Amino acid sequence: MSWSETRIMKEAEIDAWLKSAEDMGLLTSQGLAADGLSSIPGADTLLFRESVRQTGRWTLAMLKFGARRVLGIFGADAAGLGFEGTVRKLSSGKGRGVIFAPLGHRNAESLRKLLPYTAPSPLADKDLTFSLGDRLGMAGVGHIRAIKGFEAAPVLAQQSVRELDLTGRSYEDVLDSSTWAVFQEGYERPWGADGDHLKTEDWVRKALKTGFTMITADVSDYIMGEYTLKPAKEVMEDYRNLEESYRKQIEEKFLSLRIELDTGEAIDFSIEDLSRVALIYKEAVEHAGRLYTAGIEERGKGGFDFELSIDETETPTTPQAHAFIALELQRASVEVSSLAPRFVGEFQKGIDYIGDSAAFERSFRTHAALARKFGYRISIHSGSDKFTVFPIVGRLTEGRFHIKTAGTSWLEAVKVIARLEPALYRELHSQALRSFDRAARYYQVTTDLKKVPDPAGLSDQELPGLFENPDARQLIHISYGELLKEPALSKRFFQALEEHIQEYWLALQQHIGRHLKALGVKEGG
Ligand code: ZN
Repeated sequence: MSWSETRIMKEAEIDAWLKSAEDMGLLTSQGLAADGLSSIPGADTLLFRESVRQTGRWTLAMLKFGARRVLGIFGADAAGLGFEGTVRKLSSGKGRGVIFAPLGHRNAESLRKLLPYTAPSPLADKDLTFSLGDRLGMAGVGHIRAIKGFEAAPVLAQQSVRELDLTGRSYEDVLDSSTWAVFQEGYERPWGADGDHLKTEDWVRKALKTGFTMITADVSDYIMGEYTLKPAKEVMEDYRNLEESYRKQIEEKFLSLRIELDTGEAIDFSIEDLSRVALIYKEAVEHAGRLYTAGIEERGKGGFDFELSIDETETPTTPQAHAFIALELQRASVEVSSLAPRFVGEFQKGIDYIGDSAAFERSFRTHAALARKFGYRISIHSGSDKFTVFPIVGRLTEGRFHIKTAGTSWLEAVKVIARLEPALYRELHSQALRSFDRAARYYQVTTDLKKVPDPAGLSDQELPGLFENPDARQLIHISYGELLKEPALSKRFFQALEEHIQEYWLALQQHIGRHLKALGVKEGG
């Protein structure tokens, strides 16, 4: 389920567009009047000015058909470029034509070939990367408008397998949505596409084959967290059952090691420390190696960014665990571009940080220093709306980090509906309450439904205020799958959002802009 923009245009709609364009002077005997656009006042009603590009003999533009968008390719002999759609001859120019190409997968592929900036690329050489997950495939333009004023490289496509399942989308569709947004905005800076929280080699291959440029390897199934709290005696017993050659090799390496950090701290290992982290992380490191190798086979060295996520565990990652993983990955020649530890406190989706921010600061300082030491970016997952800790993140990393957001852009969409379509919002809210138990299975949240105000007791004007309430935010946040799989409700939701798409883009620009400012990201770029 997403926009209706993949359908072929009706002939009458095309006739009407061509007539308006000719009357306005937008179409001349040379085709689209690309150079003179700024002197044509009504041009904005027929196309997105920022999108217009000339390449070879062709001019491309994102055209407007009311609330819908269509790719237009102007110029002779465009047929060989691989676009599909409705081909028309322009009455004003002999032999000149135009293709009205719907925003489908094949056309996105052809566009990525013709205009390379509409394809993602690896971002390993960037200091600051910001992931902007777009579950609905409609947020990209707002995301680009937010980030283009800052010195940060966006990861515009980012979806986990769980999110694909819950939204009924494919990696092709996720990537294509970003391509269209990039084209529409004329955004020519590098951007990434992240196959998020991938657990198997198959998914790594699949994401990279589709054109994704970043893999977030999720090795949580291989982390033996039960060893975190086991008594030393049991730890030592189980450790002795590991292969002797492995033990010998890590003991030689770690027991005499002292890692000095630029914060003045140092990390070393007793035999008990080493045994414990080895039991917890040995298999996780090995699985990371397998996922990395699958990526290398598909894309080659340097062909993609590799993030390791160890964030989905019960207890915070210790500095020793972080150092052990980093050094063991080095030994296996796994090149990590970013690493996501589990931090102190709670990083729940779509709401502010829960916990002691001074404790977070102390532990984050060490993780950030370790990341510097080993030459990758520290990554913050569930990074939406963590306004309490953003200044700490920006300061302690000196502006070198990766952050992931997704849920907050979905919440902004529903907030637009609450503001502009209150009756529809009330239905979405009731459905979210009815399906809460099912939705809560997929996410670790502490939502207390008793703390969510009953919309029946609120006026229409008060509905957007629900988004100030953390429990209400979480209720809506985790319910996206349940809401989108109700066909009638989902259809009305998409239609309403399409109608208010400009308001949605503006809301995102402001909300993501607040994130970037709080993180201390430099403006400009
Ligand atoms: Zn994560």
